[in-house]
Amino acid sequence: MAERKNITIMGAGLVGSLLSLYLAKRGHKVDIYERRPDMRKTLLDGGRSINLALSDRGFRALRGIGIEEAVRKVAIPMHGRMMHDEQGNLTFQPYGKEGQSIYSVSRAGLNAALMDLSEPNPHITYHFNRQLLDLDLHRNKATLRNHETGGLEELQTELLFGADGAFSMVRNAMQKTERYNYSQSYLEYGYKELTIPAAADGGWLLEKNALHIWPRGNYMMIALPNLDGSFTCTLFFPYEGALSFESIKTDDDLLNFFLQTFPDAVPLMPNLAEDYFSNPIGSLVTVKCFPWSYEDKALLIGDASHAVVPFYGQGMNAGFEDITVLDQMLENFNGDWESLFKRFERKRKPDADAIADLAVMNFIEMRDKVADPRFLLRKKIEGK
Ligand code: FAD
Repeated sequence: MAERKNITIMGAGLVGSLLSLYLAKRGHKVDIYERRPDMRKTLLDGGRSINLALSDRGFRALRGIGIEEAVRKVAIPMHGRMMHDEQGNLTFQPYGKEGQSIYSVSRAGLNAALMDLSEPNPHITYHFNRQLLDLDLHRNKATLRNHETGGLEELQTELLFGADGAFSMVRNAMQKTERYNYSQSYLEYGYKELTIPAAADGGWLLEKNALHIWPRGNYMMIALPNLDGSFTCTLFFPYEGALSFESIKTDDDLLNFFLQTFPDAVPLMPNLAEDYFSNPIGSLVTVKCFPWSYEDKALLIGDASHAVVPFYGQGMNAGFEDITVLDQMLENFNGDWESLFKRFERKRKPDADAIADLAVMNFIEMRDKVADPRFLLRKKIEGK
């Protein structure tokens, strides 16, 4: 039996919160630090419901802590893509065989559920409003800003997991070590979240069990269903150029563009202008780095080690799979954390790189090729 450790997790996002449950299950004492306030008490996204596609590899990790079925009950199966052409005609493309689906789930709902599950665990303690500012990897010393007092706090860590997302400060400290490989690349596209509200009777205004796509060549809009009858739409659009976030400046510009490009969606989006002009533009980044660990002291996990663009719907799923793989390795663990970390990063890195590249390629497929008659014919021949 390996020694019980005092473990620090930086970041109480989806991956950090789930990881805390797995580590506590193995008897470790876990302290989890999060720069934001407790999301269950404050509406961090201004009340917007933002959803994610949860797939098999994500469900497998939830199964490991016994909440797969509970999450499935508050998720909406999407059996395929529903394509909307410029005339508003619909074409449905199933994702897999009969009964296979990906699921739309609320990001905040899932994160809060993981916190609700982990917080009562006597081995897990959450520390909100604590932002990692600096990390001395060699001495295991973290400096955090306490956003409640405004002061700085020093933290001595024993074993640190960096689950602090795409702009990880734990990774930032690793980048200062010798021969560290790091790359980040941004797409020339950003994204903006918009909403199709529920029907008057609380139902869904579009087919509920589908991921909707409006492919338009070099840009697109997608929509995923929410439990309350609404859809969260995401417009993926160039930052600059003749048709871009930059070119749409007024309500009229916006309405003309939408009426021409997404005519069947416009009547379903009564708050289009308000959403469009008040919601921020998000950037789309791929982060690759190596190694993911530092001696026997720290390991990156989730987006901190492999942030991918969202077009394969696999960022969170891959982060959850990190946890499944780590947990399998902990099964026959001899207490040597350094070699465990090395084995883990060597196993996961090729998969993380593959999903990163596939995700960028799938943007081209989703925004363009899915509307191409040759693509549709090929899918028909393949029986998909
Ligand atoms: P995060 O969710 O980023 O969590 C990191 C946490 O660390 C946050 O709570 C943050 O506040 C905290 N933190 C950051 N810095 C510090 C610090 N210095 N100190 C303390 N705390 C800190 N994935 C899917 O699987 N399916 C999808 O359909 C999907 N859709 C997406 C759509 C969009 C538009 C985007 C942008 C991403 C999408 N993803 C999707 C990817 C998914 O959101 C991420 O892969 C996932 O959130 C990664 O989880 P994480 O816990 O590693 O990081």
